[in-house]
Amino acid sequence: MSGLTVRAAAKINLHLGVGRVREDGFHPLATLYQAVGIYDDVTVTDAPRWDLDVRCHERIDGSEVPRGTDNVAVRAGRMLTEHHGVRRAAAIRIEKQIPVAAGLAGGSADAAATLLALDRLWQLETSDEDLLALAARLGSDVPFALVGGSATGHGRGEVVERVEDNGTWWWVAVESDIGLSTPAVYAELDRAGGGDPAPEVPEPLLAALRSGDADALAAAVGNDLAAPALQLRPDLREVLDAGVAAGALTGLLSGSGPTCLFLCRDGDHAIDVRRRLTEAGHERVQATTGPVAGAHEVSY
Ligand code: ATP
Repeated sequence: MSGLTVRAAAKINLHLGVGRVREDGFHPLATLYQAVGIYDDVTVTDAPRWDLDVRCHERIDGSEVPRGTDNVAVRAGRMLTEHHGVRRAAAIRIEKQIPVAAGLAGGSADAAATLLALDRLWQLETSDEDLLALAARLGSDVPFALVGGSATGHGRGEVVERVEDNGTWWWVAVESDIGLSTPAVYAELDRAGGGDPAPEVPEPLLAALRSGDADALAAAVGNDLAAPALQLRPDLREVLDAGVAAGALTGLLSGSGPTCLFLCRDGDHAIDVRRRLTEAGHERVQATTGPVAGAHEVSY
């Protein structure tokens, strides 16, 4: 039987407000997600048993991607079959363009893509509500990977609501050679006694998205995980400074890092900032846009 492919995008956080750690160990979040044009493709094929094949783009170090049942894509597949009470399995092939442990939620994208791909392959007709609930059990960022666009995230980030976004935003992303563990960044935030008592998505940020005004957006972005991430990775400060020196409107850490993002005025500006950063010796620099669609079927 031929395979079915679903594409899912990386996410960035234009605002990441983090509350104090809860008793269950999670931090309440108030975040503004945006899906950007860096993608993983997940192809599923009916198979007698679960099987996983991960292929990484040459610029990606895939050594930390679990190859077995620990992979969140396989967990997603199993969870879907349990939900429907069906005894089926699939071969899952992931083609990764989203760097690993980069603060871009690549694993979450794979989980969302797998849920959707298997639902379509097996014609399970899972309701949107159930798909989102399964996604939330798999990880805080997985529901957003299904929804895409620009959206607020509350709870652990899994309560997602689309927002009006009239911009076509250009970002330059500088990836890091070494990943940064999300739990380590949260632990550093807790150690420093951090956490906003009442995290909220700022109104000026929502207004900037509605207006499409890049200067207004540059003034409104923020990330509570930047301080603990920079504490663990002081070298990232240099990258953030370099992007601003290259002419970007502002620099921002993506999620828990280490990917650094630079907001640009338009495509020409983004290409110019990318060129300047590359000339200054930075590697793995790419220009991308957001918002883009959530997980969706593609045909070749
Ligand atoms: P988080 O989603 O925790 O914020 P992130 O976006 O920084 O993390 P991911 O690329 O999702 O980074 O990887 C986080 C960890 O998840 C990896 O180090 C890896 O051990 C594990 N993982 C499980 N499945 C996958 C997958 N399909 N792709 C990438 N990582 C995976």
